[in-house]
Amino acid sequence: MKIIGVVGAGTMGNGIAHVASLSKYSVILMDINEELVNRGISSIEKNLDRQIKKGKISESDKKNALENISHTTELADLNNADIVIEAASEKKKLKGEIFRKLDKICMKDVILATNTSSISITEIASFTSRPEKVIGMHFMNPVPVMKLVEVIRGHLTEEDVCKQVKKLAEQMGKTAVMCNDYPGFVSNRILAPMINEAIFCLMEGVAEKEAIDEVMKLGMAHPMGPLELADLIGLDVCLSIMEVLHRDLGDDKYRPCPLLKRMVSAGCLGRKSGKGFYEYN
Ligand code: NAD
Repeated sequence: MKIIGVVGAGTMGNGIAHVASLSKYSVILMDINEELVNRGISSIEKNLDRQIKKGKISESDKKNALENISHTTELADLNNADIVIEAASEKKKLKGEIFRKLDKICMKDVILATNTSSISITEIASFTSRPEKVIGMHFMNPVPVMKLVEVIRGHLTEEDVCKQVKKLAEQMGKTAVMCNDYPGFVSNRILAPMINEAIFCLMEGVAEKEAIDEVMKLGMAHPMGPLELADLIGLDVCLSIMEVLHRDLGDDKYRPCPLLKRMVSAGCLGRKSGKGFYEYN
């Protein structure tokens, strides 16, 4: 694999383009308009500068990485990619449209991967005529920092595709861990209910928000408390994952906390809106 197409230049898409370009792949980064693509490229530049300051990469690594990235607003320009990694917004209908189009645009043996946090890989694969080539490649946020890529095999994904994607993740400096296609996979099946339970603790007055976060940081060696982490992920994202777990696993233990729902309705989404459990400038 030499050319990687990345759909979506937001938080995750630009992170994926960043690590892929640093690992010497040619990257075609696509989003729906110039402004969004350019914003993605500036984030990559900023994050590369941060890595230079920390002594992790050199100025010439940055230069080469940026030269490896081209950008476009046309999905059709991904027609010569060897693999496409989709990181567009977490909406099933939207992903369905993108995969249907990619299936027509890309050569028939090209692997189509999705970075979805919660949508079924098997369902996304069903929008294509190549379900055996569709796979989940779940990078963690922030992509340049986090080591894990959770690789999710859909019901029909070929074993050879799993092997190729695992190898690609490793070439990008990540550790790939395989799992099967169940709601929330492993990461969000465990993480999202923990965050949800922390919000129940806050709602029921078990402790103040700072105390809940301190307990998990000092007592369980978590680098961030669950409420701080919810603010980083986005409360709307946390709610949508809980809704998927609740609906698709059909167990009330996954019911979203009413306080989480109320905060999302109020637009308190965490860092991205300036206010969640904590306030941000
Ligand atoms: P984001 O909102 O930051 O970025 C999404 C981007 O997709 C936007 O720039 C948007 O313009 C673009 N987009 C929308 N429609 C498109 C289309 N038709 N074609 C191309 N681009 C399109 O979202 P994000 O946080 O980067 O999430 C992207 C994906 O990664 C989602 O599936 C999400 O669940 C998953 N994910 C997110 C996180 C996280 O912590 N944010 C972690 C792991 C996985």
